[in-house]
Amino acid sequence: MAIAVPGTHLAFDDTDSPEGMCTTYLATLMLEEFADLDLIGLPRLVRLNPNIPWKTRGNAAISLCLGRGSGKSRLCGHVADTDIRCYDRGAPVDPAELLERASKVLKRVARFDCDKTNPGIVASRAKPPPALYWGAVRGILGLRDVESQLKRSGARWRKFKNGRGVIGAASAMSWRPRDRTWEVIAYRSPDLVGTRRSISDESVIAMDRATRRTFNNYDYENHHIAIAPGSPCPILFGIRGDSSDELLKAKDMIRGERPSKWLLFMTNQGTDDHIVPKRVRSLKPRDSARVDVRVAKYPVTVPGKHVILRVTDGCEMDAAFYEPSRAFRDVARALIPGDEVTLYGSVRETPRSLNVEKMLVRRLVRDVRKSHNPMCDACGKRMGSVGANQGFRCKKCGKKAPYSRAIFEKHARNVKPGWYEPPVASRRHLHKPIRRLSRVNIDNL
Ligand code: ATP
Repeated sequence: MAIAVPGTHLAFDDTDSPEGMCTTYLATLMLEEFADLDLIGLPRLVRLNPNIPWKTRGNAAISLCLGRGSGKSRLCGHVADTDIRCYDRGAPVDPAELLERASKVLKRVARFDCDKTNPGIVASRAKPPPALYWGAVRGILGLRDVESQLKRSGARWRKFKNGRGVIGAASAMSWRPRDRTWEVIAYRSPDLVGTRRSISDESVIAMDRATRRTFNNYDYENHHIAIAPGSPCPILFGIRGDSSDELLKAKDMIRGERPSKWLLFMTNQGTDDHIVPKRVRSLKPRDSARVDVRVAKYPVTVPGKHVILRVTDGCEMDAAFYEPSRAFRDVARALIPGDEVTLYGSVRETPRSLNVEKMLVRRLVRDVRKSHNPMCDACGKRMGSVGANQGFRCKKCGKKAPYSRAIFEKHARNVKPGWYEPPVASRRHLHKPIRRLSRVNIDNL
């Protein structure tokens, strides 16, 4: 049964194209439109299945809760020269009216010319059940099933073009966080959108060092500012972290182009919500999974400088460490048969492989390799090999010896047990960074 919550929920998705716009920017335009209403709780930026073929970029959808606010409020944005506050509680407003007004805003700015843009808006007093979120972050949902669910929750919705955006919008609305992070997003002046962003590297590094609960700010391996997107969208930068209070301070530490507005979001970024524990045998293309495996063969580096590691849990598969993951590949290269690892990643269809996003090296075997054939007991000559692992025979006197008589040498291991991940620039939005594996959220808005 759907549970009624204070305020009225409004969610939308699939409004942008690779050439411009951004669904989070639409959230700021909605707040401009709904200046007569209050925000109840923070806006939510919800990432869904990263392996969806029809996403524009990061498969993000937005959900807001609007109403007549009451209780405590706090600053969470600055839009149209006005501070935005969000309230603890609120009285609901009419979903039909919300949908009507929000549709007008969406129609004004959505990139309808792009084939892949199929917007959807949902307004509802009650949230759809959380199973919708889990289905959308880990699998693929059908529009018809989502619409049936929305009907049962008493929601109203509007579809544009093929209306696929309703799937993302409804799923974002149904998110009840088990884990959560925050992102403060600063936006560019409209006249600068499309031009090069000017952000001081030094200020990003200084902010990264001065804040304890932010993550993915700067890629030290590639000397790259990770808070700024490369696309021509309206975002100037976005800083992610485990403390929303610290994020508000962090945004003021960035030097360069001045943002024209900013908004704080609660998000599922950095939570690993997309990952499901699985056995190799049950993996399907586009799954995001965690598997406990043993290394089956020595790693090989293939053209393109990707590293392929054959692994097994009784059933074998290739794990791929792609070139952009840079030094992460060196960890894979240092593994040998018998090592035990836990791999996190997404399954690629052809060639079938697990694209590794994070790895826990659980146990390393001793690296003992044959260095020489043994000497013959009878005549003192070096013996010859009969075949791989099949023992030795003396070429002079014909005496035989088992393989265990070979001379073995122990090699030092160039890797330690522990967690490993790719550099910041090649991480996915949902990837839970090692930096936050042991972290607890300190606020709860
Ligand atoms: P941006 O991150 O810039 O907002 P995007 O990468 O989020 O863009 P969208 O333009 O939103 O991409 O396109 C994603 C589309 O896929 C949306 O229509 C959304 O409803 C749909 N979608 C998202 N997750 C699923 C899912 N699990 N099953 C089916 N459809 C989905």
